[in-house]
Amino acid sequence: MKKIETTLKKTFGFKKFRPHQKDIISELLQGRDVFASLPTGGGKSICYQLPALHFEGITIVLSPLVALMKDQVDGANESGIGAYCLNSSLSAKETAGVYQALERGEVSLLYISPERFAIDGFMENLKRFKVSFVAVDEAHCVSEWGHDFRPDYLSLSRIREHFPDVVIAAFTATATLKVQEDIIGLLKLNNPYTVRASFNRKELYYRIVPKNGANKQIYDFICKHKKQQGIIYRLSRADVEKTAAYLSEKGIKALPYHAGLATKIREKNQDLFNRDEVAVVVATIAFGMGIDKSNIRYVIHGDLPKSIEGYYQETGRAGRDGLNSECLLLYGAGDISRMHYFIDKISDEKEKMRANRNLNNMASLASVNVCRRKQILEYFNESYDENCGACDICNGEAEQVDGTVDAQKILSAIMRSNQVFGITHIIDIVRGADNEKIRKFSHQELKTWGVGKDKSKNWWRSIINELLGQKFIYQDRDNYNSLKLNNSGAEILYGRVPFIVLMKKETRQEEKLSFREVDYNETLFARLKDVRKDIAKVKGLPPYIVFNDKTLKEMSSLKPDDEAAMLRVSGVGSRKMEQYGFLFLKEIRIFLGYK
Ligand code: ADP
Ligand code: ZN
Repeated sequence: MKKIETTLKKTFGFKKFRPHQKDIISELLQGRDVFASLPTGGGKSICYQLPALHFEGITIVLSPLVALMKDQVDGANESGIGAYCLNSSLSAKETAGVYQALERGEVSLLYISPERFAIDGFMENLKRFKVSFVAVDEAHCVSEWGHDFRPDYLSLSRIREHFPDVVIAAFTATATLKVQEDIIGLLKLNNPYTVRASFNRKELYYRIVPKNGANKQIYDFICKHKKQQGIIYRLSRADVEKTAAYLSEKGIKALPYHAGLATKIREKNQDLFNRDEVAVVVATIAFGMGIDKSNIRYVIHGDLPKSIEGYYQETGRAGRDGLNSECLLLYGAGDISRMHYFIDKISDEKEKMRANRNLNNMASLASVNVCRRKQILEYFNESYDENCGACDICNGEAEQVDGTVDAQKILSAIMRSNQVFGITHIIDIVRGADNEKIRKFSHQELKTWGVGKDKSKNWWRSIINELLGQKFIYQDRDNYNSLKLNNSGAEILYGRVPFIVLMKKETRQEEKLSFREVDYNETLFARLKDVRKDIAKVKGLPPYIVFNDKTLKEMSSLKPDDEAAMLRVSGVGSRKMEQYGFLFLKEIRIFLGYK
């Protein structure tokens, strides 16, 4: 046990294991199979990289993302682990080089893509070497129930046959019980030590605000987070392009990413982001699993995500280094009708029902006055009853307002005009507009005509959005999106139930984070980031692989002025200290005014 703690510090530079890491590693080293479902940022890589250093033979890691493999191998090599990979991106010569390293016994960690693994004779061939441990990363890809099913993963069911004595571990960040069962069955895990970690991401602050002018709202947010890196998700490719153009025009370097762009451009944009060359990527959800970058400080959703699962995965890309990060969702009920339009095109009835259910769950998360974190965790069957202190609801950013009277004005206008008109016209009735359409239908005669003169169009639109969001009314998409009452809407109209809306408190415009940050010197942090960038450039690595933000912040807080103190910083292992730790030390010493 002592041994693995020493390796954690010496090789990875970490003082303490994250929850479950230690148990997983010691079970593995005692020869037991493992199934582990840990949230993103939970530290899955250590769970196979560290044992690789203690097993006598080779550790194989099966990982689906060829694009990511290089970063993972580079990262492991930076820590001084003999890591290699085999996948379709290698030339014949490079592949031969890997085999030579295997022959020479220089490989402790070998990353392989599942499609390579599935090739006839490949496993046979591998038997020449002593394989001790096989780790399957993103293991949910074996399950047809998962959202990322990959047929290549099915071949992994043959591992047990070919290597009866190896220890097998499966890691995933998404596991419903059904998926877990599939994984354990398909990989033939033998009485595995099973871990289901909490999916709570304490470091993420969830905030959901009404959408009005998404691009401007996004721009304002970024201005308050200038030197940080973030992802902006939009629903459509067209909106991705528009938002990226809007931001660029305003002087913010933002690159688009969506499936309609050529692969080359997509790869380039992702790479620039990965290397901290641009701060912002505007993307559809095509920008996904391949992001291992640990220093993403915020994720903004410009549109409502399709499901809570999607929202959780997408926001989960922020804060992998465990530092506080923000998630902002702009919510307009218009998104719902837009998404229904797509859902209606789904021909498979079951699929359609599922999509509807997912959307309803998400809309409810966005509009109900309950801790956002609690709602997310309950969706994953985890109970949570505290005040989380890190969402807009728990922090009282949103205020409950009784909107019953205004809701009744809208509902009454809808009823009295026979439920055949759309949003604009209903607002015109309530505000007492005098236009051709009003006169054509004699709507100036209605009792509700003009009862809402005193309030703005935007106000009435937001009331309608809320009524839609809380499902008191709906838009009839087969009839020109005319507004109609649900049964529950009638209950409000007749005063049997109140209509409660969440309003962002005007006084809270200044966005604040409630959770504490470590005190660190920002000037020094910026200078250390420059040092990191220079090293990363020379070595051709993404900066976060050199040291992550958390490590640099700790340096800017503790200001270590000699090697021993430097080695006490989380993330500084002996190999990195030797290679470039002294460059950071030098910068800190200059900062402290040493000669
Ligand atoms: P996952 O694959 O589960 O999303 P990673 O393995 O990429 O997570 O780890 C996320 C981040 O946390 C990385 O920057 C990693 O270096 C860091 N990390 C992992 N384990 C520890 C630990 N015990 N102490 C401090 N940082 C850790
Ligand atoms: Zn909360």
